[in-house]
Amino acid sequence: MWVITSRHKIVFTYFRSLKFRILLVLLAVSWVPMILMSASILKSYQDRAIAARSTEVQNQCMILSNQLLSYNYMEDPSTELIDGELAQLSSLYDGRIIIIDQDFRVIKDTYGLIENKYVVSEEVIRCFKGETTNQLSEKRFIEMTVPVRAGDSNKVQGVLLVSVSTDSIWDSLDALTNNAWVFTLVYGILVTVAAILLSHLLVQPICRIIAGLHEISSGHSNEDLMVKTYAETVQVSEEFNKIVTQMRALDESRQEFVSNVSHELKTPLTSMKVLADSLLTQEEVPNELYKEFMGDIAEEIERENKIITDLLALVKMDKKAASLNIEKKDINDLLELILKRLRPIAAKKNIEVVLESFRPVTAEVDESRLTLAFTNLVENAIKYNKENGWVHVSLDADHKFFYVKVMDSGQGIPEESLDYIFERFYRVDKSHSSEIDGTGLGLAIAKSAVLVHKGAIKVSSELGVGTTFSVRIPLNYIA
Ligand code: ADP
Repeated sequence: MWVITSRHKIVFTYFRSLKFRILLVLLAVSWVPMILMSASILKSYQDRAIAARSTEVQNQCMILSNQLLSYNYMEDPSTELIDGELAQLSSLYDGRIIIIDQDFRVIKDTYGLIENKYVVSEEVIRCFKGETTNQLSEKRFIEMTVPVRAGDSNKVQGVLLVSVSTDSIWDSLDALTNNAWVFTLVYGILVTVAAILLSHLLVQPICRIIAGLHEISSGHSNEDLMVKTYAETVQVSEEFNKIVTQMRALDESRQEFVSNVSHELKTPLTSMKVLADSLLTQEEVPNELYKEFMGDIAEEIERENKIITDLLALVKMDKKAASLNIEKKDINDLLELILKRLRPIAAKKNIEVVLESFRPVTAEVDESRLTLAFTNLVENAIKYNKENGWVHVSLDADHKFFYVKVMDSGQGIPEESLDYIFERFYRVDKSHSSEIDGTGLGLAIAKSAVLVHKGAIKVSSELGVGTTFSVRIPLNYIA
């Protein structure tokens, strides 16, 4: 059975690495052209050497053919001068010369093997017709037939059948091939070493990024990552640093949120403890004081309850859009219902709550989340209003969005607070606001509900005059 050990894993990882692929490419672009070049140089040397030898022998044969005619050798092959010449030529080219007369009879064979025999091969016949043939035989010979004829005459009086050894060409080709392979090998080793070094160097910045990421992920470093070698590594470093910054910001806001929650939850508990302790430490506490303190404790419990309810609502809001329950809803009806529920509270301060609707509006919304958002806005408009004031809610729409405005004649919000009122637990003036019941979570919930519908919320306010919250939400839900 095939067992994958950690060594196998390392080998697999190496084969899948960028370093290995760069090495392969470098080796391919250095070795392949080098081998092809050596092979083609050797081949062209071989072709040229054989062609040169053929031409040289052919020229010698022409000269010989002229001499044969001038010494009338074809008729009387006993001329010693020509025999000497033939012997010299065949030893010079390490070859064999056969002279054939018009009757296809061998009148001279420098090997002396087939004299007076007949040679009627295709080449010889073609040669008698005036054609010179030339071919390289497998036995490392150039075989050639050259017609013997007077300079300008067409009459072929004989044929020179010459075979010349190419051994000397092959010997020098072998020597050249050996040299070429030694050179290729030495050059190849140098190139391979260079390719290994280069692949290592090219991948080095990526290794540095990996090491940096590892340091950060294992918590050993808080420093920003920056590898400046390539434009790409700078880009990767910058994008990574952005993610880290976002994560740190998220972590900080989570920590701040947790500490705010703990603080807000502790305050009512501390009050209750103080109230309970003061009852316990006093002896013979009058009934009225008991009642008063228990009433205060009940109020604190109510406050604690409201904070927890709001927190749960906020956590629910923050959940991803997947948990949204989007339906087509009549927004006029939705606002009417909210105002109907809140009017009794407004009535306590004799505040007039009016809904002004410019047109019927239906939109794809999560009813419960949007109800919570508008309830919080109108509730605030009533809460932070004066006696006999007014709250004006308007609804309008165009082809893309619907717009809800909640205006009040209340105390207004100081300009410096406008940027913070949507933050969790933010209350404008804690001491002043403490007279008015609240957790500082209402607007955070409203904003979160609007954003989850891909909408927008804005506030404008003038101290002592009033505040306007403007909400814009798409008619069709965009997933
Ligand atoms: P709270 O529970 O305190 O009402 P919110 O998040 O709803 O918390 O509001 C944050 C703060 O913004 C409030 O404490 C209040 O000071 C201020 N605020 C909100 N709405 C209004 C408004 N309509 N008029 C004046 N001040 C407002």
